Amino acid sequence: MSVAVSSKLNKHVREQYLKLAQNGKVQVTYVWIDGTGEYLRCKTRTMDCEPNILKEIPEWNFDGSSTGQAEGSNSDMFLIPVQIFRDPFTLDPNKLVLCEVLKYNRKPAESNLRHTCKAVMDKAKDSHPWFGLEQEYSLLGIDGRPYGWPQNGFPGPQGPYYCGVGADKIFGRDIMEAHYKACLYAGVKIAGTNAEVMPSQWEYQVGPCEGIEMGDHLWMARYILHRICEDFGVVVTLDPKPITGNWNGAGCHANFSTEDMRQEGGLQSIEEAIEKLSKRHRFHIHMYDPKGGLDNSRRLTGQHETSSIHDFSAGIANRGASIRIPRQVGQDRCGYLEDRRPSANCDPYAVTEALVRTCVLNETGNESKCCTK
Ligand code: ADP
Ligand code: MN
Ligand code: MN
Ligand code: MN
Repeated sequence: MSVAVSSKLNKHVREQYLKLAQNGKVQVTYVWIDGTGEYLRCKTRTMDCEPNILKEIPEWNFDGSSTGQAEGSNSDMFLIPVQIFRDPFTLDPNKLVLCEVLKYNRKPAESNLRHTCKAVMDKAKDSHPWFGLEQEYSLLGIDGRPYGWPQNGFPGPQGPYYCGVGADKIFGRDIMEAHYKACLYAGVKIAGTNAEVMPSQWEYQVGPCEGIEMGDHLWMARYILHRICEDFGVVVTLDPKPITGNWNGAGCHANFSTEDMRQEGGLQSIEEAIEKLSKRHRFHIHMYDPKGGLDNSRRLTGQHETSSIHDFSAGIANRGASIRIPRQVGQDRCGYLEDRRPSANCDPYAVTEALVRTCVLNETGNESKCCTK
């Protein structure tokens, strides 16, 4: 099992330095999405006093030619702070700050999907859209093999691993536990966690979050996960199908409701939303992974608790459908729907924006965008 070099540095030696007083200064780590739209970057600066609101954190910049984000010779990009969290790595009073990226002309960078999402959420704010995202992920050694899998060959077939307990069923629980605690400390709205169907595959849930907050909290939860895995020397992948064959893929189920859906008799609003979604399947598939449907085509096969990428379907308690109405919601006749299509590596800003455009703003069309038709 190969693990990364930096994880082999003596962490007890590191502890001594982390305990040192900061002489009243505060470390603020700016976090942003890079040009891939999938990976995160960060850098840190010192501030003279603890910032508690966004206004107290200045804009900053970075070299976009080193992150796949700059155009031509104008390589300076702006970092615009949008959400503050406590830093679970260097502890209080230090901060993690999620940022939007703007180009030299102050237009959003190509991979900045928050900008349009925010505009759509502002338009829809009276319907109070809530989301809960289920982030599935897989752990890999730096050799790219799933963490804990035998060097040659495969673990026993799927069955005992989902929500499993025991050294022969669970690989990497330390990471899941560290991530859960770190998210709670940071102020990320983490809702829960479980071991998944494929060994060394895990899930955490973030939500319910209203509007733009969903993307902000999920992206920070991802940053914290990558950073924790770095300490442990393993790699986290959000690839929707890390291992081909009879192994489950990884999704990011999107649970969604409006105020109408949550009220008594809201099942009717849920069914209306599903009707709208059924007419816009390709547009949603286009928005649900960073490659416009290409990544998800490896995962949405109709097997392993997924629906086919080519068809739209919905049903109560049906985990083989595009949209599932949870059994409890069917019984209560109100609540939320679950869109099971988003890929684990989706951009949550794109997913939540698409749901609101279709279900709340009643937009139609844009079907031709999808690359899998
Ligand atoms: P599953 O049974 O699909 O594995 P999970 O328990 O993993 O479901 O996730 C369900 C998620 O739904 C929770 O994280 C929660 O945040 C979210 N959720 C609950 N109620 C609502 C609601 N009314 N609107 C949107 N999301 C909700
Ligand atoms: Mn789940
Ligand atoms: Mn799951
Ligand atoms: Mn689910």
